[in-house]
Amino acid sequence: MSALVITGVPGLGKNLEENFTDQAGKKPVVISTWDHGLAANAEAWKILNSRGKALDAVEKGVMVTEDDFSNLSVGLGGLPDREGIVTLDASIMDENGRCGGVAFLERIKHPVSVARMVMEKTPHVLMVGSGAQKFALENGFKLEPKKLSPAAEKAYKEWLKRSEYKPKANIENHDTIGMVAIDAVGNLSGSCTTSGLAYKMRGRVGDSPIIGAGMYVDNEVGAACATGVGETVLRICGSYLVVELMRQGLSPMDACKKAIERLVVKNLNYREVQVGFLALNKKGEHGAFAVQKGFTYALADSGGNKMFDSDYFLR
Ligand code: ASP
Repeated sequence: MSALVITGVPGLGKNLEENFTDQAGKKPVVISTWDHGLAANAEAWKILNSRGKALDAVEKGVMVTEDDFSNLSVGLGGLPDREGIVTLDASIMDENGRCGGVAFLERIKHPVSVARMVMEKTPHVLMVGSGAQKFALENGFKLEPKKLSPAAEKAYKEWLKRSEYKPKANIENHDTIGMVAIDAVGNLSGSCTTSGLAYKMRGRVGDSPIIGAGMYVDNEVGAACATGVGETVLRICGSYLVVELMRQGLSPMDACKKAIERLVVKNLNYREVQVGFLALNKKGEHGAFAVQKGFTYALADSGGNKMFDSDYFLR
């Protein structure tokens, strides 16, 4: 494609799409956390590849994971809290800085879509618990049965024998899905959805529904999301930090690394936890970094949909 010479505000006075394509690397791109990211990316890619919006891609993508009742860390099949109840957290953010989140939500299949509805239909950003559930039901969501998945029930019964609480790092397929994407016209969006840490205290909310912690988007700069022990991410406003570091000129990879270095300094228990950050910048370049070995992510672009291993701090 020939180079476009545009002065002033990028995107003004020219075909926006041509302009963005010319300025940037490979687009569209979608990245998401862990092995379950592959199936989620495949759905998101259908939208991105047919010139759809990043916002629709990140919602529809993670809905695949929420739909999977065998997944122990996302959606209603997830591991419950200490009282045996599954409570869900989710968030979504678009290219205009609009955002929504739900937390401590019970018996609703697609918390990410409720988060989108909070963003689009209310003057609020975050709704929780019974109020969030009431809002969902009033807006066409169905109340699902109060029932653990067979695998979650088995694991919970096992856990009850000792009732010991220790968040584990790197249990394959047992973590939040965070997704960030850039579409063909260069707009960024992000989503994040989880059943949270297994056997958490009742009422505990993690980083995933908190804008700037579990996920953040600034369409001028980039987008980031997080997975792992949410308390450690909340302490450093993790995803916001990654985006701000990209704003200062760091590559997505270096921004994720610096944010992990900050997390390590601010969390004395860092050796016992896993946290991974994923980031995408305005050019469609991506990066990832984790506290420990074992964080994987999926990336889909015109070259295919593949898994990658993240680099990490504790070598
Ligand atoms: N970040 C999530 C939370 O703390 C959990 C996870 O990613 O595994 O709720």
